[in-house]
Amino acid sequence: MKIDVLGSGSAFAKSKNTAAITVTDAAGKMWLVDCGPTIPRALFNRNLPLDAIQVIYFSHIHPDHCAGLPALINYWKSFQRSAPLTIICQPEHRAALQSIACLGYWPEQTTTFEIQWLDTEDSFSWQGWQLQTAETQHEISNRAILFSVDNQRLFYSGDGRPTKASRALMKDADLAFQECACFTELAADDSHGDFVDCQKLAEELQINRLGLYHCWDEEVDKIRAAVAGNEKQFVSEDGLQLDLSRL
Ligand SMILES: [Zn+2]
Ligand SMILES: [Zn+2]
Repeated sequence: MKIDVLGSGSAFAKSKNTAAITVTDAAGKMWLVDCGPTIPRALFNRNLPLDAIQVIYFSHIHPDHCAGLPALINYWKSFQRSAPLTIICQPEHRAALQSIACLGYWPEQTTTFEIQWLDTEDSFSWQGWQLQTAETQHEISNRAILFSVDNQRLFYSGDGRPTKASRALMKDADLAFQECACFTELAADDSHGDFVDCQKLAEELQINRLGLYHCWDEEVDKIRAAVAGNEKQFVSEDGLQLDLSRL
């Protein structure tokens, strides 16, 4: 399983892209996880084939995770994508996402490719991939996701503090990306992760490799310094590419 970090920044990051990754299996099948406002440009820079991304998974629909969707759909329309696209989101988020997706081809009612909408489920499969999702503690409902693909496991938190359910998914991951907004401890009922909590998490779950991301601009240097020299933890960066078969 290959991971390409398109963006690792927080909602209002000044230079980093908004948080998103692509996940690709050994056969080349690819998902995009989240699509904030700066993600279309990150994708244009990669010159992927038009039909490379088969599925977009949305952890939740705060704009830094979904506002790039109409621009990306418009790009595919403009260059005549024909392969169908699947969009997976929480059922209660679908109407809002559809209302922005249609801007990608407005005023037409359809575009050059079919869009299939599926609901996020606790556990489901897709073309041989196994997916599990769990709620984190966030301002709006956010579903972390565990990919079990090619005998490797990748956890991606989306936004929010870890919960019992999301920890259970993270436990046996070969690589886990956890949102970590702040270096200093936040309140237990906060909507974002913090570095102190992430250290407890890493210790308790014995996480093989933990990537911290979505750090606030003013916090990221402190977090980077704190994990320097730690072989099991890193601060995620835009453009980071990882191959789980080689970790
Ligand atoms: Zn966010
Ligand atoms: Zn959010």
